[in-house]
Amino acid sequence: MKIHKGDSVIVLSGKDKGRRGEVVRALPKEGRIIVEGVHRVKRHQRTTQVRKRAGIIEKDLAVPVSIVALVCPKEHTPTRVGYRLAEGTKRRVCVRCGEGL
Ligand SMILES: [Zn+2]
Repeated sequence: MKIHKGDSVIVLSGKDKGRRGEVVRALPKEGRIIVEGVHRVKRHQRTTQVRKRAGIIEKDLAVPVSIVALVCPKEHTPTRVGYRLAEGTKRRVCVRCGEGL
């Protein structure tokens, strides 16, 4: 997956379109990511053996990686990810400015 944990991304579609946030978790097997503040839902929870507190908690659900674009840390604009070989290893780069990611 081209997007990793810690990346800054912008949402391209859905109810959070235009929102920017940091990837808090990547789920490569599902092709999904969890982004801070994106697809935030309220969950009503009751007490269980483990969790003594009931109430409403807010949670960010995973979104398909295809609905976000990576934001280049240098240009602060959405971009696509490319790869370049440097010293025998594959490095992620911004296709617009060539900055390493
Ligand atoms: Zn760039």
